[in-house]
Amino acid sequence: MLVMALGNVRGQSALDRLRERYESTETKCTACGYVDENGNWTSETDGRKIVYHHVCPSCGASREFTYRLNLDR
Ligand SMILES: [Zn+2]
Repeated sequence: MLVMALGNVRGQSALDRLRERYESTETKCTACGYVDENGNWTSETDGRKIVYHHVCPSCGASREFTYRLNLDR
């Protein structure tokens, strides 16, 4: 059951796709090995970078990935 109501693909931003990539590839907690199939990743941005954040529902360990936006040019 991976059907998600995210709207059509054209309306999806690259950032959403990047988050989906984390949700599909970074499902396993590095601390306890729990596989979170719900992909509880959140993303926040300050305009210069995006921080993807995940909290393991099993042990509470948090992981973060920071993605820098290329706004220089
Ligand atoms: Zn865990």
